[in-house]
Amino acid sequence: MAGKSAMKAQVFRAIGRIELQELPVPVPGRGEVLLRVVGCGVCGTDYHIYSGELTDGVNPPVVLGHEIAARVEDVGAGVGGLKAGQFCAVDPVIGCGACPACRSARPNLCSRPEVIGYKRNGGFAQYLLAPAGKVVPLDESAGLSGGVLCETLACVINGYDRLGFRAGASAMILGAGTVGLLWTAMLASSPCRLLVQSEPVEFRRRKAAELGANVVINPDDGDLAEAVRGAYPDGLDFIIDATGNPTVVEQAIPLLARGGTFLVFGVCPSDGSIRVNPFELYRKEARVIASKMPPGTLDRSARLIESGRIPCGKIVTETTQLSAMPEAVAAFNDRRDRQVKVAIDPWK
Ligand SMILES: [Zn+2]
Ligand SMILES: [Zn+2]
Repeated sequence: MAGKSAMKAQVFRAIGRIELQELPVPVPGRGEVLLRVVGCGVCGTDYHIYSGELTDGVNPPVVLGHEIAARVEDVGAGVGGLKAGQFCAVDPVIGCGACPACRSARPNLCSRPEVIGYKRNGGFAQYLLAPAGKVVPLDESAGLSGGVLCETLACVINGYDRLGFRAGASAMILGAGTVGLLWTAMLASSPCRLLVQSEPVEFRRRKAAELGANVVINPDDGDLAEAVRGAYPDGLDFIIDATGNPTVVEQAIPLLARGGTFLVFGVCPSDGSIRVNPFELYRKEARVIASKMPPGTLDRSARLIESGRIPCGKIVTETTQLSAMPEAVAAFNDRRDRQVKVAIDPWK
């Protein structure tokens, strides 16, 4: 540990303000692990925090970054089973441990969680601390892209479990950003008879086709609902929103087949609202469900990434340096035509 006292970190100080600072390298306490960051993904959530759209559970000054690939650097007292140098991902959701959700092993629904990268210092730094139980060992073969996507894929796995996908069903994914494309990879590995995806950006439509979508639609070409209804008059069995856009959700719910399930997965604005026709839901016996954050699904996510079935290297399209992080966050929505997931390597 000699000579290692200061580190570089991007600190979120206030809305619209992220500054590169030198911080002391944290010292792991009992049950904690010091992690050396290998890469950290820039997420829409970071943009929502930066722009002030998301303040709940955020505690500035704080280092953002919850999509973390790292290596164990040092362990605190009482930590077994983790050795220095071990490659890993991090489960950022730390429940309070005492509320009804935590007591039911659903920390993603905790009423007062301390999320790494929201409230506790996250991965846009050279080092961070994590509780040992939140460190998820990952084979080296996963690489930076697999490590960085492990958390997001864990969220998708939660959604997949909740969906109750049935072999031979049809599905539609709305959006082909990081989340939409991880859904493409998941459903393309499932016995899905038809996988439709909608995405306005050409670069991302090509990715969706490459990752296994059978039909890729540009919603800007005309009325999405009309196009889907024309091609699939019986509707689709499963529809997953990965846009977080209430207008898209409102348009797409009526496209469900009888007995279909709509999953609200993308994070819509907290003041958004939509109109639904309850009679149509009744007539179809349709379900509208949601899923939020990973409820301890990172271990399965890590194993799935190790299997090589999720083409993580095609989704992480750029790795850049720590100094470029504030701009990467601020310009999150401006680079859709050439980037999907951008990762930050704080040692680059
Ligand atoms: Zn994220
Ligand atoms: Zn709790």
